[in-house]
Amino acid sequence: MENIINVKHPLLTNLVSKLRSIHTNSYDFRKYLSEVGRILLVEALKNEKMKEKELEIWIGKRSFPVLEEEKYVFIPILRAGLPMLDGVLEMIPLAKSGFLAIKRNEETLESVLYYDRVPPLKGKIAVILDPMVATGGSLDYAINVVKEKNPERIISLNVIGAPEGLKRISEKHPDVQVYIAQIDEKLNDKGYIIPGIGDAGDRAFNTG
Ligand code: URA
Repeated sequence: MENIINVKHPLLTNLVSKLRSIHTNSYDFRKYLSEVGRILLVEALKNEKMKEKELEIWIGKRSFPVLEEEKYVFIPILRAGLPMLDGVLEMIPLAKSGFLAIKRNEETLESVLYYDRVPPLKGKIAVILDPMVATGGSLDYAINVVKEKNPERIISLNVIGAPEGLKRISEKHPDVQVYIAQIDEKLNDKGYIIPGIGDAGDRAFNTG
């Protein structure tokens, strides 16, 4: 699973533990998801190419490296990916955003797409945001939808994954770089990650 990068940092682990606690309310839950998204993005872009740009500074004109912010398109998977968007947009405010809504049929655990508002991706770096990689079904589906739009590169930022789901993504999409904060033990028979954080969408939007 070479393309699955388990990002390790005490600050990240601490945030994930806060997400796990049932005493974390939805406001804090969204805030922690946003912070995890930001830290994962920092790691994902650590070797990113930069462009020289001439800037007017206090001693005249000089060239400095800048990131091509508009080249990035953040794509949260609704609903649970939404809080991660806030964190990453704080880091790259001029990035574009697109939205995919995918739900899973709780009986078959199959993924169903019901909203696609992703802008054209040709020449762009698509960054998918989805906290949970359980069976990997929604992420697999989302990556397929994104691939059809021909981006230059795809990155996925995820908070917790089950080994089964990550294996599926790694096998089907070895070209996608997946940055994940924690790999948990397993899935239960309803497709929830154990120990996990419960239903991330419900916890973020107080609908549990
Ligand atoms: N989706 C969630 O929100 N939580 C899980 O544990 C699995 C899928």
